[in-house]
Amino acid sequence: MDNCIFCKIVRKEIPTEIVFENDDVLVFPDLHPRAPVHLLIIPKIHIEEFAKVEESELFKKLFDAVSLMIKKNDLENNRYKITINGGGLQEVDHLHIHLYGKVASL
Ligand SMILES: [Zn+2]
Repeated sequence: MDNCIFCKIVRKEIPTEIVFENDDVLVFPDLHPRAPVHLLIIPKIHIEEFAKVEESELFKKLFDAVSLMIKKNDLENNRYKITINGGGLQEVDHLHIHLYGKVASL
């Protein structure tokens, strides 16, 4: 998608700190962090809706990256929150997972 900000980040057209990357998944800090740790975990392919994910393997790849980020940031034992955005009501129409860490509540 030409105008999607996350696709532009995937294509490296917008410079962003890349926290983690593999063939399918990209992780970078949220531009407007709402917690001391606030990462976005996204699929590299443009998928707008959760319900449009055809390969369930993609969820595993995304969740594996989330787990890795939880461990890397020392967030285990109830020190994080995960939300999945991808239904059309979110700011960016590209399926993404927020990982918030080190906060009492959000
Ligand atoms: Zn996109």
